[in-house]
Amino acid sequence: MTAQRPTDSASRLAMLGGARAVPKDLRIAAWPRVTEQDEEAVRLALASGRYTTASSGEREIPGLEEEWARYTGTRHAIAVSNGTAAITVALGALGIEPGDEVIVPALSFIATAAAPLHLLAVPVFVDIDPRTYNMTPEAIEAAITPRTRAVVVVHLHGLPAEMDEITALAARHGIAVVEDAAQAHGAEYRGRRAGSIGAINTFSLNVSKNLATCGEGGLITTDDDRLATRATMLRQFGELIPERGERSYVAHLLGWNNKPSALQAAFTRSQLTRLPEESKRRDENVRQLLERVAGLPGFLPPVVPGDRTHAWHILRFRVDPAAFGLDDHLAGPLRATVQRALRAEGVPAAPYQLMPLPAQRVFRDRLGLGAYPWALPGVPERPYREADFPVTHRVIDDSFALQKAHLHPDAGPLLQRYADAFEKVWEHRDKLVGIAASMPYTHPWEQAEKIAEAEWDAAFGTEEARS
Ligand SMILES: *Cc1c(COP(=O)(O)O)cnc(C)c1O
Repeated sequence: MTAQRPTDSASRLAMLGGARAVPKDLRIAAWPRVTEQDEEAVRLALASGRYTTASSGEREIPGLEEEWARYTGTRHAIAVSNGTAAITVALGALGIEPGDEVIVPALSFIATAAAPLHLLAVPVFVDIDPRTYNMTPEAIEAAITPRTRAVVVVHLHGLPAEMDEITALAARHGIAVVEDAAQAHGAEYRGRRAGSIGAINTFSLNVSKNLATCGEGGLITTDDDRLATRATMLRQFGELIPERGERSYVAHLLGWNNKPSALQAAFTRSQLTRLPEESKRRDENVRQLLERVAGLPGFLPPVVPGDRTHAWHILRFRVDPAAFGLDDHLAGPLRATVQRALRAEGVPAAPYQLMPLPAQRVFRDRLGLGAYPWALPGVPERPYREADFPVTHRVIDDSFALQKAHLHPDAGPLLQRYADAFEKVWEHRDKLVGIAASMPYTHPWEQAEKIAEAEWDAAFGTEEARS
């Protein structure tokens, strides 16, 4: 076959009427991948007639717990109803009380900061590192006060945070470390698995995550026997249920009903048998994409320090205005333009979080439980100030994320087409620079305000004040 000269249409940006770099008919394999083995596992669990932790003889939930403890290298795993419940239960197991402060990152999913609030604890937000997107040990230490009881460390997008330094400083200050590993199944830090390092740690099994169930689920891990027992009580109304013998229905403490379902445990056990192999193939596919993007000076692909691995749950790319020949203050418009160009080429580039977590109304406007926890005696005023989170704002402004389509182990060819699109967009940077320099621009967090208002009005009418 002779090489064809690219036609006009192929070389032009899709945004300006050219052909897409990612062909429309290229199949995107759905995630989670569901095999006959998964279906059979769920069918058998259904046929067993035992569906919850309370059904005597139920084997799927303890089976998943044993296998997850073995996989993460921890003494105990406790399955729960979702990843948010996992964090609340973990903090509850630690004995976090109303008015206690819990340090959390300014860039994460809302669940990380909502979980302490549900216990009437006060989330204290910390800015992130501009390359790893995780909290730094220095920033955590600077946020510690006499009221601090715990830090929830998020391994954002699947990259483990600086755990040795964080656990050391936490020990010095007498605070507990909780890893929120909802995005980091299987990632390793200095030879240890994410979720095996903190005192008590959490995972989500939501369909969107690297280890999924067929719906909602979560896991807690710990080496501490007492914390494991407390977490097991908290998911089950505060009860202690003996391995053998009758359930007493005695509630020893205030718990929740956060139990998992046996059918979902069976599905995840089946998925778990493939996790090592699928993670390895995802790692190969993603690295091949990132190697090609790394050759384009305008994009800052995710970094992986040599002492850890990345679970590649989400791929975040920052744009570098200087490499595009643009002034730094045009980072946001440049990102918006590049994102639009990539989307037109068929790359699902999209924001992950429109605003820092502390700017979410729940925290900024203190919509807790009534006026609590903020009205509790001794809780300091900590008004939200944009200037306290410069890196989080900058990263939200100048980066976009790829989610989900890269998770399937067969995504390699698709990601190569994504790399084509990145290269094409970079080649046409002159066009994009012109657009970015002259477009009207609103920051994502300002857009979020408008979206919030419109959504509220659509739901409740313009008469009802937002509160
Ligand atoms: C998904 C996620 C959660 C919450 O998990 P759910 O199962 O959806 O409740 C918590 N933290 C982080 C960082 C997440 O990505």
